Amino acid sequence: MPTQKNLKVSEKIEQIHRDQEEQEAERSAKKKNLPYLNLQIFPINADVLSTIPRLEAQEGEIVVLKRNNKDITVGLVDPENKTTLAKISQLEHMGLSVTKTIISASSLKRALNFYQSAAKEAPLVGKIRIEQENLEQFNQRIKKVSELKDTFNSISTTELLETIIAGALKAEAGDIHIEPANEIRLRYRIDGVLQNISSFPLRAYQALLTRIKILSDMKINVHDTSQDGRFTIQIVKKQNQQIEIIKEIEARISILPEAENETIVIRLLGIGVQKLSIENLGLESKLLETIKHAIKKPNGLILNTGPTGSGKTTTLYAFLNYLNDPKVKIITIEDPVEYRIPGIVQTQVSQKDTSSSRPIMIASGQLQATTQEKYSFAQALRAILRQNPNVIMVGEIRDEETAKVAIQSSLTGHLVVSTLHANDATASVQRLFNFGIGPGDLALAMNFFMAQRLVRRLCPKCKKPYHPEKKVLDAIKENLKGLAIEKNLDNLEFFQPGSCDECQGLGYRGQIAIYEVFFKDEKIQELIAKNTQTLEIEKAAKAAGMVTLRQDGLLKAVDGITSIEEIERVTGELSETEI
Ligand SMILES: [Zn+2]
Repeated sequence: MPTQKNLKVSEKIEQIHRDQEEQEAERSAKKKNLPYLNLQIFPINADVLSTIPRLEAQEGEIVVLKRNNKDITVGLVDPENKTTLAKISQLEHMGLSVTKTIISASSLKRALNFYQSAAKEAPLVGKIRIEQENLEQFNQRIKKVSELKDTFNSISTTELLETIIAGALKAEAGDIHIEPANEIRLRYRIDGVLQNISSFPLRAYQALLTRIKILSDMKINVHDTSQDGRFTIQIVKKQNQQIEIIKEIEARISILPEAENETIVIRLLGIGVQKLSIENLGLESKLLETIKHAIKKPNGLILNTGPTGSGKTTTLYAFLNYLNDPKVKIITIEDPVEYRIPGIVQTQVSQKDTSSSRPIMIASGQLQATTQEKYSFAQALRAILRQNPNVIMVGEIRDEETAKVAIQSSLTGHLVVSTLHANDATASVQRLFNFGIGPGDLALAMNFFMAQRLVRRLCPKCKKPYHPEKKVLDAIKENLKGLAIEKNLDNLEFFQPGSCDECQGLGYRGQIAIYEVFFKDEKIQELIAKNTQTLEIEKAAKAAGMVTLRQDGLLKAVDGITSIEEIERVTGELSETEI
């Protein structure tokens, strides 16, 4: 990624000339009361462009920039040019509805040049490409997130979005916040916590906002309502005109009006999931073996519960990765697809019928959903059953209909894995009863139910050993009563967060999940079949060896992975009743 400093003088002059030309085009657009577009930023879609043949586009000084069925958006240089007007009425005679925008002469030239590469380049709407080589160079140059600030100050606006994304990937950030005020403030969410990254001059904002809106298929001229969209980040390798896609990352974009400007949030889906395997979820070794055995069963229902952002879907992905084998047919129904696993058919549904979250089928030809149509988990699940998969992942059971189809599927020879909103593992039983599932069916269908939360990992570089005071130690012992622990808790050193450069002074780096899992045995099956209250099921699960969320967390604190404070933050104070 060249910096502004590297640009030659001649290129700089050319850039200044182009900027002036753009300003003139923008002024002329204002005068005519038409929207203005800068094709240095606006991604040109070669497919759409070909609506008008190149020669006619050149003569008429008009290009097609967007097309949605009968609605097209054209870019033109002069709205009073007769040849241009003739071309527009010709398009309207073809039954097209034409929206006019003003572009500069050099934008027109750029679009016309695009015709030649039309055959080679894929359409760029909805996709942003970052070359792997650039990403690697960037990673070598930037060793620490704090070094990003200087980079942003030296970069040209056209590369800004790529650099912001590259920085987020480097930091393994889950989302990117771009907030304009006197300056643009850039923040990344790292390990669940927002961090200030940089601020840069406001002049870059408008171009950045427009580019993001176009990429995510949002309305450019709407500034007073919130908008949602998505685009795909492709990490590519270019070689002899060939483009090889190394990796794709889905991005969800939300734009909110605020005071005078709009704030932008880009959520990067599935970040950190890449290295995901069942072994490094942080499951205790005996529990891991039991789970490995249980998910190999050909049918039944597996549920993971927890609030939004507790990593429950990530765990399910790890399960699917473990089961992924050419002999096993796995289909997912998600909203949205957060992480793509090769060899698995992943489909996406939406229960909202807004244009930005229309249903998209990721695997080609597997399922057809009409755009703008409501397409629920339950409907998708029925459609998928016709494909006779071995394993089905349903993103979330959130209504009665989905719950019923999921139970039926798990009773008829499919392994169904899903998530559910419930406070803990045993509470999921009552939740399913509330969805109208019969106790007998549930008792038969259950494989195992689990719950999880995320806690932060102590920074290994700066964590500080200490002995907790007696009151705290007693509470820890009380909570861990009955569990076999090899270490002697009385003399054990626990750890507190410190502060160093590696963790940016936070004392924590990365996250780990804490779990509770309960499996079906005869006793539990009997209790569920008898429509028993949660409390009694919980008692039976504990008696059968279930380690609770808090206990699992405390065991991780005993191992020095996290702190007592962190477990209290997530599961409540130790002296209080367990969540
Ligand atoms: Zn540290």
